[in-house]
Amino acid sequence: MSIQTINPATNKVEKTFTEMTEQDVDKAVAQSAATFEEWKKTDYKKRAEILHKVAGLLRAKKKELAKMITLEMGKLVAEAEGEIKLSAEIFDYYAKHAEGFLADKILNPAHGEALVRHSPIGVLLGVQPWNFPFYQVARFVAPNIMVGNTILLKHASIVPQCGIAIEEIFKEAGAPVGLYTNLLISGKKATTLVSDKRIKGVSLTGSEAGGASIAAAAGKHLKKSVLELGGSDAFIILEDANIEKAVEWAVIGRINNNGECCIASKRFIAVESIAPAFLKSFKDKLAALVIGDPMDAATQLGPLSSEEAAVQIADQVKRAVDGGAKLLLGGERIDREGAFMQPTILTNMLPDNPVYYEEFFGPVAVFFSVKDEQAAIVLANDSPFGLGGSVFTQDIERGKRVADQIDTGMVFINHPTWTQADLPFGGTKGSGYGRELSELGVQEFVNKKLIRVSELTDPF
Ligand code: NAP
Repeated sequence: MSIQTINPATNKVEKTFTEMTEQDVDKAVAQSAATFEEWKKTDYKKRAEILHKVAGLLRAKKKELAKMITLEMGKLVAEAEGEIKLSAEIFDYYAKHAEGFLADKILNPAHGEALVRHSPIGVLLGVQPWNFPFYQVARFVAPNIMVGNTILLKHASIVPQCGIAIEEIFKEAGAPVGLYTNLLISGKKATTLVSDKRIKGVSLTGSEAGGASIAAAAGKHLKKSVLELGGSDAFIILEDANIEKAVEWAVIGRINNNGECCIASKRFIAVESIAPAFLKSFKDKLAALVIGDPMDAATQLGPLSSEEAAVQIADQVKRAVDGGAKLLLGGERIDREGAFMQPTILTNMLPDNPVYYEEFFGPVAVFFSVKDEQAAIVLANDSPFGLGGSVFTQDIERGKRVADQIDTGMVFINHPTWTQADLPFGGTKGSGYGRELSELGVQEFVNKKLIRVSELTDPF
């Protein structure tokens, strides 16, 4: 795979990068391992100082970094600025709170003393996707640097400038060489690298295929792994929902990040008594979106991240229609340069449709009308994925009861699935395992070491 910046709004190649050689990678791994031996001895104050500086630099460079994101993967520039702001919040949050999350856990054994200490494990490999080029990195890196681990980061091949910029920011923040290293390599090489004895753990955010490849290598070489994979979040609208609010959030939930979001609302499931009213308003709002250049502040829907992604989703819509689904809106590429796709609504999607169980990674909503709450829950759970989901109802206790029955890692009431620095993020089923963010995320790549003072004098 070539490592290139291609502006998806024009499909023009902006810059081409040379992949690192095996020798370059070996040197980077050696440096990261050597830096770990020093970094693990630093105190939390020192680690926090660097992360706060990274946060400050992100804020200072917000405009230029946001433009870089938009150039490389096409999200609206205002959303890209939001991503930089969120990434800075994540660095600050873990700088401030990780020490508390990692404090010794004092146990209360039958006799004597015991505690669990949270120690770093070493060099970690992070494999990250293009859809949130800074946020995805921040949520993996900030907690782990506070733990005392060091990071090798293989970023997606379509966002090389973002990958390099993050490494530069660490340098500027005064991080020791080897604390954070950007690897300009292919996904295949990243999988091979998992076998390297100096690497102690690996985390991938991306597709099931990428995740399976990394997890297989991690399993073979007995290494800890965390996977954040795809999703097909259900967006349930119960009969007592505020329809106007539900429609507003449905549009945002589907087209945020041009529809390329793991936690985007993808399957809209409305109880039949309110389904026609919801669907009409949802369709009208999607049809009215301003489509155009993502650098332009007036644009509401930009291109997909690449020409390949646009071809893929247009083909997926065609396969859906060939398989019996009906097009209520859109369904075609937009006739202009760039990787644009019309906002699309599919109905009549039945389980025998070849794409029924697939994730739609773009501005394509699949709509279902169901008899009642129970049918909505059954349909929501009829998915190989288990990332997020939403329930819209004005009865919060009812919302919580429904949430309890949805088989995913996150369920939001009256909001699409979302993320923030202090809440855990992750899924079940085909959406992966492990968590990022919050106390749970901090504790993924630590050695939970038991330290015991025994009073036993008799071994039996
Ligand atoms: P992808 O192809 O899996 O790419 C993600 C990363 O994995 C890239 O760095 C990629 O490198 C690398 N990669 C690809 N194949 C690999 C392999 N066989 N071995 C090792 N590394 C490999 O994913 P994508 O299609 O670009 O991203 C979209 C997917 O990510 C969607 O399914 C989305 O839902 C999911 N996602 C999940 C989350 C979450 O938190 N759960 C967040 C964002 C996205 P190259 O670019 O060099 O191929």
